[in-house]
Amino acid sequence: MGAITLNAVEKWFGSVQVIKGVDLEIADGEFVIFVGPSGCGKSTLLRLISGLEDISRGSLTIDGKDVTAEPPSGRGLAMVFQSYALYPHMTVRENMGFGLKTAGAPKKEIAEKVNEAARVLKLEPLLDRRPKDLSGGQRQRVAIGRSIVRQPTAFLFDEPLSNLDAALRVEMRFEIAKLHQRLDATMIYVTHDQVEAMTLADKIVVLQAGRIEQVGTPRELYEKPANLFVAQFIGSPK
Ligand code: ADP
Ligand code: MG
Repeated sequence: MGAITLNAVEKWFGSVQVIKGVDLEIADGEFVIFVGPSGCGKSTLLRLISGLEDISRGSLTIDGKDVTAEPPSGRGLAMVFQSYALYPHMTVRENMGFGLKTAGAPKKEIAEKVNEAARVLKLEPLLDRRPKDLSGGQRQRVAIGRSIVRQPTAFLFDEPLSNLDAALRVEMRFEIAKLHQRLDATMIYVTHDQVEAMTLADKIVVLQAGRIEQVGTPRELYEKPANLFVAQFIGSPK
């Protein structure tokens, strides 16, 4: 479960249109990456999918159900941001279980789901630590773990690695690729890093000024860019 369809989606902030008629089909289990220059609308598009922003025109379906007017909590998605705001006074275990706890889940269920997520992310040895005693990469994994316990239909990542140093970014890139394989979940991932896009994506969506320039596999974009913009963007070092 996790197919997502955008139909002629537009977003206006007042009189300014920032998303200009986006049609996109994301298959269940697909790893889709949004790339494009700063300000082109990547984060806005992700926020429209998550429900953090309202769609001005057009519609959104998840697994065939129209969720255009559905609040974020009704969409079954998990949003992972670059600023992994963990609660400093809580342990890793408590941080990961907090969402379920506030949703009123029974203790036993919380413990089981936290343990399962910790196993998948290899966080078991760290469960009793607090965020200040973790490395940047470990904190990022806890942030991802926190979303896994909610068992989302799809994960939405907004530049999750941009605060990490270069070596850790490469390591976390592999972690996320492995996670995608293990969970077999739909992932939509925003980055301005072409290498990240080319190595992680099943499908890359190239955006410019609120429009889709091209959608394709990394290979298709590399070998048959639709226009000069895509060619330059995919080909540029960063
Ligand atoms: P990206 O993530 O690709 O850098 P954004 O989606 O953040 O781009 O922004 C796209 C455009 O929408 C930018 O011009 C930005 O200034 C504008 N924008 C984003 N959020 C708001 C908002 N809440 N109010 C007004 N304009 C916004
Ligand atoms: Mg952004």
